[in-house]
Amino acid sequence: MKIWLNGELQELDTARVSVLDHGMTVGDGVFETLKAMDGQAFALTRHLDRLARSARGLGLPEPDLDEVRRACAAVLAANPMPLGRLRITYTGGLAPLGSDRGDEGQTLVVAVGETVRRPDSTAVVTVPWTRNERGALTGLKTTSYAENVVALARAHEDGAGEALFANTVGQLCEGTGSNVFVVLDGEIHTPPVASGCLAGITRALAVEWTGARETDLPLDVLDRADEVFLTSTLRDVQAVHRVDHRQLPGAQGPVTAKAMRIFDERAGADLDP
Ligand code: PMP
Repeated sequence: MKIWLNGELQELDTARVSVLDHGMTVGDGVFETLKAMDGQAFALTRHLDRLARSARGLGLPEPDLDEVRRACAAVLAANPMPLGRLRITYTGGLAPLGSDRGDEGQTLVVAVGETVRRPDSTAVVTVPWTRNERGALTGLKTTSYAENVVALARAHEDGAGEALFANTVGQLCEGTGSNVFVVLDGEIHTPPVASGCLAGITRALAVEWTGARETDLPLDVLDRADEVFLTSTLRDVQAVHRVDHRQLPGAQGPVTAKAMRIFDERAGADLDP
């Protein structure tokens, strides 16, 4: 397995990043996960835009997006696989313990792992912890994902595939690695970015392609929604067949089924929408 580390392809087994990298000591980094089909990254331009936006939000020096593009192409060419999960990580880089990071020597890693298509449908749980819609990191895709890891573990304990957060004012927000959509009276709604959710790339495409509305939604909308679905890079559109103890139609839901079809058609027709 070959990865890209700071300017060149390297063997994964021998590639080295300092244990004092700011990304490791204080979680000072940003990342992107992309889907790669037959060696081609999907929606690369949108992912690079968000990587740069997240880096700016964290005060990191602007990443060299030309290098990131080259790195993605090189890693995909060096590791052929039918369906890949491409990961770009960009961190604060080496800095002595307790000191600020510098303006140079940031760490860029691009790696790919083989993955499989996600199931068409999943169960989800709501969790008692809130997303902060007014935090310094709100909306940035930083490497500080521990809260998501904890919430997802809670979902797995319950036999579910995703956990959903409300924000601090009790509005539905997002999942640990996905955005959420609900169907009410045949119309599709999703929380606005102001709810504190990540501006998901799949979310944006689903809004454009299905006409979904961005609406403030109380968490208990999940008790009355006719259908619920999730979006994310590795899920595309994934139906929800259970929220906590409430059963839902899952992939049988007509609006969800149509959204899945539209997404497959449109995403299949354009690699960089
Ligand atoms: N929210 C969070 C917290 C995420 O980690 C992700 C996955 N990147 C998403 C939403 C979905 O975003 P995207 O469609 O860009 O994968």
